[in-house]
Amino acid sequence: MNTTELIQAFASIFGQEPDATFFSPGRINLIGEHTDYNGGHVFPAAITLGTYGAARKRDDQTLRFYSGNFEDLGIIEVALSDLVFKKEDNWTNYPKGVLKFLQEAGHIIDFGMDVYVFGNIPNGSGLSSSASLELLIGIMAEELFDLKLERLDLVKIGKLTENEFIGVNSGIMDQFAIGMGADQKAIYLDTNTLEYDLVPLDLGDNVVVIMNTNKRRELADSKYNERRAECEKAVEELQVALDIQTLGELDEATFDEYAYLIKDANRLKRARHAVSENQRTLRAKEALVAGDLDKFGRLVNASHVSLEHDYEVTGIELDTLAHTAWEQEGVLGARMTGAGFGGCGIAIVNKDKVETFTENVGRLYTETIGYAPAFYIAEIAGGSRVLSRK
Ligand code: ADP
Ligand code: MG
Repeated sequence: MNTTELIQAFASIFGQEPDATFFSPGRINLIGEHTDYNGGHVFPAAITLGTYGAARKRDDQTLRFYSGNFEDLGIIEVALSDLVFKKEDNWTNYPKGVLKFLQEAGHIIDFGMDVYVFGNIPNGSGLSSSASLELLIGIMAEELFDLKLERLDLVKIGKLTENEFIGVNSGIMDQFAIGMGADQKAIYLDTNTLEYDLVPLDLGDNVVVIMNTNKRRELADSKYNERRAECEKAVEELQVALDIQTLGELDEATFDEYAYLIKDANRLKRARHAVSENQRTLRAKEALVAGDLDKFGRLVNASHVSLEHDYEVTGIELDTLAHTAWEQEGVLGARMTGAGFGGCGIAIVNKDKVETFTENVGRLYTETIGYAPAFYIAEIAGGSRVLSRK
């Protein structure tokens, strides 16, 4: 969608031109899965799939929202004085949460807005359309109300919205990747300190292929919160002997030495994943920087193995995609990405092999699962931004 189309779409719904247009990306995560709420490292990148938006400041206190992805819902109207979660307000709970937390942080939003959004990230597929939408609304408010905001403030407000308004106990990775993304760079982020490096994503002759299971990750939110609780409990058990706040503080040797303190087999596996995945992410980043793409790919595979067997968040669809991808020619590595239980995987594939890759994986997946997956090439691009101003 280009800005002219965006402006036209906005005008056809709201009868006037918008003050500005916007784009907020989705994200992939190369490696470092389920580590962001465990104080570990993640290695995501913003992609060119994302959410487009257009907005106009109103001269009353009414918010009007329209999504081109939910046309049947029409315009959803919300009073600026009524920024509370209501199930019937559907997707507009995300924007409401963002505006509410901006206000609570002392930012003055004293008028309503007309807001049009349209996204091309498949919703609920683990590419984080929700964080993309949150940051989009954040930069709209920043632009229209001339807010003085650090980008990191918006990132944190997006996370707060997800955690406290929507009720998903997610970490900071998605909003961080989407808000701070940069062209052709992956973000190596320490979720404990929020220190980060922008690492050139130089994959040589290879591209990142997103593999969508086309299974909505229904279980994801409840299982997500369950995994989080299991890890917190494991930390409590380890704290008997270790001065730690998160599993991300442990290397594998220390974890191994104190693992006997964890009294439950499942919790042991969950904690082992959080520790090993964090160390693996560090090694993967080093391999990428050193140009050792084969090693980088093997670590990506190892991430899937750990998510499949220790963290147990994959399922037959993601396992079929990853295992089938591993068998194909020209594949450096493949794994699930996002929360798991459906959603997407990624594969790092030689440019010249992408066509045979998608044909083969598509056919074998369909034979096993009964319906087809979808494939997209992930192009790595910048974070949430203004596209045009009136
Ligand atoms: P994910 O973040 O993995 O894509 P979520 O379930 O967290 O999946 O978020 C998807 C939800 O975000 C949608 O159900 C919808 O409420 C909201 N959303 C995302 N993109 C859009 C959009 N373009 N228009 C309206 N709502 C959207
Ligand atoms: Mg989400």
